[in-house]
Amino acid sequence: MASRGVVLPLLRRELHTTRTRLNRAAPSLSTVANSVRNSRAASTRCSVRHTALFAQKRVLGQTRAFSQSLSRTFADENSHFDPRQIERESDEVDVCIVGGGPAGLAAAIRLKQLANEAGNEEFRVILLEKAGELGAHILSGNVLQPTAMNELLPDWLAEDNPSRFEGATPAREDKMRFLTQNASFPIPAPPQMNNHGNYIVSLNELTKWLGERAEELGVEIYPGFAASEVVYDTDGSVLGVATNDLGIGRDGKPKDNFERGMEFHARVTLLAEGCHGSLTKQVIKKYDLRRDSQPQTYGIGLKEVWEIQPEKFKSGEIVHSMGYPLPSNTYGGAWMYHFGENLVSVGLVVGLDYPNPWLSPYGEFQKLKHHPLFKEVLTGGKCISYGARALNEGGFQSIPKCAFPGGALIGDTAGFLNVPKIKGTHTAMKSGMLAAEATFSALQNNNDGTVFLYDYEDALRKSSIWKELYEVRNMRPSFSTRLGLYGGVIYSGLEAFLFRGKMPWTLKHHGTDAAATKPASECEKIEYPKPDGEISFDILTSVSRTGTNHEEDQPVHLQVADWDKHTDVAWPKYKGVENRFCPAGVYEYVEDPSKEHGVRFQINAQNCIHCKTCDIKVPTQDINWQTPQGGEGPKYFKT
Ligand SMILES: Cc1cc2nc3c(=O)[nH]c(=O)nc-3n(C[C@H](O)[C@H](O)[C@H](O)COP(=O)(O)OP(=O)(O)OC[C@H]3O[C@@H](n4cnc5c(N)ncnc54)[C@H](O)[C@@H]3O)c2cc1C
Ligand code: SF4
Repeated sequence: MASRGVVLPLLRRELHTTRTRLNRAAPSLSTVANSVRNSRAASTRCSVRHTALFAQKRVLGQTRAFSQSLSRTFADENSHFDPRQIERESDEVDVCIVGGGPAGLAAAIRLKQLANEAGNEEFRVILLEKAGELGAHILSGNVLQPTAMNELLPDWLAEDNPSRFEGATPAREDKMRFLTQNASFPIPAPPQMNNHGNYIVSLNELTKWLGERAEELGVEIYPGFAASEVVYDTDGSVLGVATNDLGIGRDGKPKDNFERGMEFHARVTLLAEGCHGSLTKQVIKKYDLRRDSQPQTYGIGLKEVWEIQPEKFKSGEIVHSMGYPLPSNTYGGAWMYHFGENLVSVGLVVGLDYPNPWLSPYGEFQKLKHHPLFKEVLTGGKCISYGARALNEGGFQSIPKCAFPGGALIGDTAGFLNVPKIKGTHTAMKSGMLAAEATFSALQNNNDGTVFLYDYEDALRKSSIWKELYEVRNMRPSFSTRLGLYGGVIYSGLEAFLFRGKMPWTLKHHGTDAAATKPASECEKIEYPKPDGEISFDILTSVSRTGTNHEEDQPVHLQVADWDKHTDVAWPKYKGVENRFCPAGVYEYVEDPSKEHGVRFQINAQNCIHCKTCDIKVPTQDINWQTPQGGEGPKYFKT
């Protein structure tokens, strides 16, 4: 039997042309294995433990009988199916990267550049991405500061490069506005927001393009593979990751298509999961990586892409705003970028430390678009895409230790976003490149012991990332004082134009965003206007524009241990805050007279767009976002 280490590259090659459909629910790997096993010798680098699963499948030859017997054979003491009793296959690689965003891809590219330059083309770098296609889960503004990109792939825009990136619109004009309900006033933009020399891009398109460059260099990329578990070695270091089991029903029993996950063992594992990564969360806890840092704080960004009337299009124009529609005790701001051909990226970021549980970031975004500054541009146009994603706002104070035994955190999952700039792509990429360099150098020692990337931590401290985050460290927390928005604007102005990060103090964050939520009874209820269907939309129409999908018959990936207990604690105090903070209508409290509080908590997990807001903001902190089956989730377009 061929190992998946052999099968996967072949499977990937075979399906290359239909890549958008590659997901793990597609052809059974064992079938492909049978067809290819005689055509390839097993890689000497792969250690394979044949699973009981595949062996039984061949003997029984009848999948229904197989899955029923499987359920009985691998049951725990309570007769519940326990897949952990089935051994997983494993593959051994040099470096395993979790997450195919800018950070993960920059790390992968840099590693293979170094290995290829050293004549070590056998050096295996594997990258797992939960989206069915690279970029499909990426949502961003995006104004790109091209510093890291220029360093990594200097010819990325060169006219004589046949595979140059074609989707970059040069930034031309910056505008900064303060909004009242019906008017807008120009305000000075801090120097950090000067976008001269930057480009407006769709980050999901740029990510796809980076993926193609990585593959050309020999990176093994597996979209549709969600890493759901950290695998630890006997000495407590990270040995790698495992992908999740497929084909388990909502009732916890195996279905016909059950397939055990697979382990990837690596000398170094780089976690590049983006903001609030689900494995990162575990690793931070296990190694206490926040021991010297403050809690991470977050915002949620909601975005639409519009095709607008050509006469309103101003290629390269960048507009940022503060003020309306957000209340003065809520941090945030909006953007509108003109890019591509008659396209506009419009969005709103809301700091997740907002106190009022009646506030709905989605409702605020819909209101924003009716402000004359936005409405004038959008009227007569067509919304073609929608999405939302959490972003880090903790900055310098919240950077955890980034190296751990056997691996490191890179990009947004470590929290390198520069909030006043609203930019994290260049820092994510740079951190990936620094981690790659430290990794390659550590692995040259040819020592089989656990790798600890001390050099990566050092390189971060000496890098441009550290310098730029240090300079702006006091800006975001200055909005969390009693003076709210106005205090923050004044203090940030002083920081930007006068202090420039040189003052000896460092302001603290308030604590976690979940803890910042006040009881509903202490806050003013907010009624949102009905959407008009032209500029503003109901949430389900918007969700339909994300292309998101999850198989219904699987364990709910938004794990709440006991839905009734959650209701008992959360409903009386917060009156359905989950329904309002989720930008995809996943959570509902449905009227149910048979229940103590008259409502029943419901999770429509199929709608989830993987923004991670619930895990961050739920005041009861009992929602655990886990990876669903690989390949599921949004299929973002131009985001
Ligand atoms: C609304 C918004 C606006 C922004 N605007 C800008 C801007 O204008 N300019 C700018 O420079 N930056 C901007 N940013 C920030 C920028 O998008 C991020 O800094 C950047 O995307 C970080 O890259 P990353 O690779 O670390 O993470 P991500 O881009 O989030 O990529 C992480 C990848 O890992 C995958 N993944 C996660 N967990 C797993 C798992 N367990 N298994 C497998 N795959 C996994 C995800 O599906 C995703 O593809 C914005 C962000 C947001 C949310
Ligand atoms: S369920 Fe959670 S992660 Fe999914 S869209 Fe809603 S808030 Fe975001």
